[in-house]
Amino acid sequence: MAHALYPGSFDPVTFGHIDVIRRASALFDSITVAVLNNGAKSPLFSVDERVNMLGDVCRDIPNIKVDSFSGLTADYVKSNGYNVIIRGLRAVTDFEYELQMAQTNRKLAPEADTVFLTTSLEYAYLSSTTVKEVAYFGGDISKFVPKEIEKLIFDKYKKK
Ligand code: ADP
Repeated sequence: MAHALYPGSFDPVTFGHIDVIRRASALFDSITVAVLNNGAKSPLFSVDERVNMLGDVCRDIPNIKVDSFSGLTADYVKSNGYNVIIRGLRAVTDFEYELQMAQTNRKLAPEADTVFLTTSLEYAYLSSTTVKEVAYFGGDISKFVPKEIEKLIFDKYKKK
């Protein structure tokens, strides 16, 4: 059985992430999408908000669970028995960092293999950072995130 973990910041979840999750759900027996609680970053959304957003937009995808974790991905992988780590690749610029991380995780948690899903071309340019930049200046983000996430992003900037 292949139990896959898709870790990331998801701050916020975009159509690019959802596309990776949907395709991965057809490949593996189960998928856990997990929000990494990374103290080094200052996110727009709290971990709980991000978990709720993911739960919402993935509600029709079978065999998926949403969770969060702190610390090393390798430790979380080990303690939950995952044997696949999913990451998405958009461009060469992602590659170097992702390769290094995959190799590090292989040393720390040899029981899991990192599997890369290449982005669907229509989302190759899309990142959470760009979405936040466009939203900050009041631009149209409807092509980047689902309707319900769009509202939450603009609400957040109104409050800030
Ligand atoms: P992280 O901070 O861990 O990079 P992200 O939420 O930015 O978290 O991304 C999580 C994963 O999803 C990463 O592997 C990233 O490369 C991938 N990803 C992000 N956006 C896209 C996209 N548009 N298409 C495919 N993969 C993506």
